[in-house]
Amino acid sequence: MALLVTKFGGTSVASLERIKNVALRLKDMKEKGNDVVAVVSAMGDTTDELIDLAKLTGDNLAPREMDMLLSTGEQQSAALLALTLQNMNCDAISLTGWQAGIKSDDKHSKAKISEINTERLRAELAKGRIVIVAGFQGISPCGDITTLGRGGSDTTAVAIAAALKADRCLIFTDVDGVYTADPRIVPEARKLSQISYEEMLEMASLGAGVLQSRSVEFAMLYGVDVEVLSSFNFNPGTLVTEVKNMEKQRVVCGVADDRNCARFALFDVPDVPGIAMKIFKALAKENINVDMVIQSAMRDNRNDIAFTIERDDLKRAVPVVQKVVKEISASGFSYADDVAKVSIVGAGMQTNPGVAADMFEALAEENINIHMISTSEIKVSCVIDEKELEKAVRVLHKKFELDKIE
Ligand code: ADP
Ligand code: ASP
Ligand code: MG
Repeated sequence: MALLVTKFGGTSVASLERIKNVALRLKDMKEKGNDVVAVVSAMGDTTDELIDLAKLTGDNLAPREMDMLLSTGEQQSAALLALTLQNMNCDAISLTGWQAGIKSDDKHSKAKISEINTERLRAELAKGRIVIVAGFQGISPCGDITTLGRGGSDTTAVAIAAALKADRCLIFTDVDGVYTADPRIVPEARKLSQISYEEMLEMASLGAGVLQSRSVEFAMLYGVDVEVLSSFNFNPGTLVTEVKNMEKQRVVCGVADDRNCARFALFDVPDVPGIAMKIFKALAKENINVDMVIQSAMRDNRNDIAFTIERDDLKRAVPVVQKVVKEISASGFSYADDVAKVSIVGAGMQTNPGVAADMFEALAEENINIHMISTSEIKVSCVIDEKELEKAVRVLHKKFELDKIE
């Protein structure tokens, strides 16, 4: 008998028919003698629809109230799944995030799980029930509902698997695994049977939305084996796990794309200590993450600083940057939201020089202009015009022969 923590994403619970399909799978797992927890996302596009509804109330969307609203999506699907199971004569109970003991910090809309009190989860499992948990939500130290960032149900599932020391965490979605690129963009993309935590973390952080990057961090930290597989078929999925001898692996294992990107440029910033700190502290105070940063060469004791943030944060970032520009007496700033990020990821890059050059060559051959570059041991990312993004992904997939990966 194993303890399985499963997670079903929005498409997998988009209708009562789909929920019934999920219920049948869970019932089957239970009847085979396993203990089963199922984390669910909101049905279909419910989260987006709730956001659109909130926008109709006006411009001021307080994160606390947004979390209160958005968390209802997951509660709906959790209760419907529990009812469906009960109507199949299968004992089940649905729990909200806080009923499941999921505690978080108080950063509304991007909260991080701080602790899981597993008492209730264990008690319900001990009663022989399938335990359904509303994903994407927690409770802050002062007792307010929080949400864990878009795609956060993945993190709920992996965190519960870690806390319960589950045998495996199964993430059911609408693709049957992790591919060498988003199969919606590259039809020739290949499914990877296995991927290391490190590579998956890079892929997820760089835009491969198949897993939320926080969930991979949890998996890596607690050594949880995560399998990504489809709720629409019974194909084998992709195992995300610890892979030894990473340098013997593929040079490049995937291409990731991210449209959630916006770029700022600050002009004629005085070249004195503490300036970068002022800019980035002001943004951090507003809970805005800065991604890539470039500082140009100095001229006349001044230089230009460019950086990227998540596009979702742009509206909040503009007044912050405006204020800092005045304070540091830079000559001005500009921003653009029509940029995107394309990246290649692979553990083998560490020992194979020239991979970045190959990437730049492939983009140059297609006349794709690179605005910013960032590299780490196992990835190279370029900021380009958003309109070139899909072409860039396909060109890089071909350049690194990812359609031939076995
Ligand atoms: P869920 O609602 O189940 O959480 P998501 O839409 O969040 O599903 O994630 C699944 C989607 O991730 C797929 O439909 C696919 O288009 C996209 N995706 C992006 N990059 C990849 C990749 N490298 N491999 C597989 N899927 C990917
Ligand atoms: N429903 C939330 C979202 O759409 C969380 C999730 O699906 O994981 O982002
Ligand atoms: Mg998702």
